[in-house]
Amino acid sequence: MDAMDGLDVTACEECPELCASRSRIVNGVGPADADLLFVGEAPGEREDREGEPFVGRSGDVLDGALRENGLARADVRITNCVRCRPPDNRDPTDEELANCRGYLETEIEAVDPEFLVTLGKVPAEHLLDRSVTITDEAGDVVRAELGGAKRDVLLSVHPAATLYDPGQREAFERAIERAAAAVGSGDQATFGDF
Ligand code: SF4
Repeated sequence: MDAMDGLDVTACEECPELCASRSRIVNGVGPADADLLFVGEAPGEREDREGEPFVGRSGDVLDGALRENGLARADVRITNCVRCRPPDNRDPTDEELANCRGYLETEIEAVDPEFLVTLGKVPAEHLLDRSVTITDEAGDVVRAELGGAKRDVLLSVHPAATLYDPGQREAFERAIERAAAAVGSGDQATFGDF
């Protein structure tokens, strides 16, 4: 794609409202050959300011869960379904998700991760192209055609959900534990044991 330099989108004005609300395009971070690729929804206020996905409190929750399972943020790749901050932190529209999908597909194909992990309902529904009840399906692994291949997608609640609903913490931690096990990290021996 012309608007991309490697895995980074360098210039794009496909979504007029998001172009007006963003400070910058927030690209994915982490190794270009990571085994785990986390996919969130969209940059928030802090991500827009700092130019990195999942910073701030939800990033702290994610980083902490990774550490608990022997992984550092630098070991994984983290990206979003849309790369520009929606106004007032609203959900991205279907059109905006579709506009940005090509960049995400290119990133998935290039990184070629062993597992994708969706963080929250929006990325799960976007990648699987169906409705998802995330509280019921968190921890499930689903096969989906993404980035030119059939891939395993592990569904997780959003880390921020654990901050306003501590009851979701266990599901989140279990999903990260499962993701770590899938790439041979943490206490769990193999992905197939679950
Ligand atoms: S969200 Fe994606 S498609 Fe829309 S303007 Fe930003 S980079 Fe372009």
